[in-house]
Amino acid sequence: MNKDSPKIAVVGAGIVGLTVAKILQEKLDKTNITLFAEKFHHDTTSCVAAGIFRPGTSFKGPTPEITKKWINESWYYWQDILKSFESVDAGIMAFDSYIFSKENYHVTRNHLIEDLLPIYRPVQEDELKLVNGDWKYGSYFSTLKVGCEKHLPWLEQIFKRKGGVIVNGKVDSFTSLAKYDLVLNCSGFGAKYLCNDHDLVPIRGQVVKAHAPWLKFAFYGDYDTYIIPGLDGVATLGGVRQYDSYNMEVNKHDTAAILERVYEMLPALKKAKIVDHKVGLRPHRVPVRVEPEMVGGLKVVHCYGHGGYGVMCAPGTAIHAVEIAINLLKGNSRAHY
Ligand SMILES: Cc1cc2nc3c(=O)[nH]c(=O)nc-3n(C[C@H](O)[C@H](O)[C@H](O)COP(=O)(O)OP(=O)(O)OC[C@H]3O[C@@H](n4cnc5c(N)ncnc54)[C@H](O)[C@@H]3O)c2cc1C
Repeated sequence: MNKDSPKIAVVGAGIVGLTVAKILQEKLDKTNITLFAEKFHHDTTSCVAAGIFRPGTSFKGPTPEITKKWINESWYYWQDILKSFESVDAGIMAFDSYIFSKENYHVTRNHLIEDLLPIYRPVQEDELKLVNGDWKYGSYFSTLKVGCEKHLPWLEQIFKRKGGVIVNGKVDSFTSLAKYDLVLNCSGFGAKYLCNDHDLVPIRGQVVKAHAPWLKFAFYGDYDTYIIPGLDGVATLGGVRQYDSYNMEVNKHDTAAILERVYEMLPALKKAKIVDHKVGLRPHRVPVRVEPEMVGGLKVVHCYGHGGYGVMCAPGTAIHAVEIAINLLKGNSRAHY
């Protein structure tokens, strides 16, 4: 810790808070950063996610240009780690994916990533028969996933090694952080209460984790059906998208519906041992909030509300939030973006 450097607090130890902390440490010569969080690792929403790089087409920043910048910068950030010797420790994994639909051609297209990913193409007739179902439309694309079960501890280790301090506890209000020069608010769904933000709405998700080391591709079908390979052979099977539901319990009816859909698509999954069931509340907000605010004289930079795409888009939004923060610390009112 350096006494001359500005005192910065980061709230949140999910993918967003820890990525913000990493980028802050890289951008500032001297750092004095304390990260506050109520929950870590497996208890965060980030660890529920499959972590695949595939934004929903409704993912939104304040302008289309900023949305695209966040997505593109995130992709290159993940590519840099993927190509480094640290990719395994960091929990990043590359694979290809099919998205099929029986009903709607448009759900197989994605204007946000078609020009970014190395491959994004319509499938050929034969490929529609790769998994069960009378699929009419499909796309094939190359992508990656971030396994937060490995990535969060990896980030935490880097943060501590570079002198970052971690405090386990709830922040009840920004006033309690008044001694800091600046606060980065990366509290995910917690921002609903910390900022009294009525625009932040939960979209409940539930997934099944199953051991399927033979699975090499991701498959998407209609109605939120997905089968996504994972680290150490543990695949994520989903899912549900329940707007404004706060239920954190595993629902047996959701489990049954998920399994019925994925087993129908890929019957071999019936032999995959189920190792876990997970529930999380996607912090949905339109637009995702990356902006500064003065709260009772304290400089706060918000970075939350990533909905179902916070793992893949954490880096792009974090780069933006850190840029705003550094400008505020220099005395500029806000970053140009
Ligand atoms: C089923 C499901 C599947 C998903 N799949 C994907 C996917 O494939 N790809 C993708 O990109 N995204 C996916 N997501 C979305 C992704 O999980 C979220 O967008 C992301 O985890 C949000 O990260 P976060 O760091 O903002 O929040 P979180 O991971 O929830 O972290 C918030 C942190 O803030 C802390 N906190 C909150 N309030 C306070 C407080 N008052 N005081 C102290 N600490 C506080 C928490 O304890 C925690 O440490 C999925 C989500 C679900 C539920």
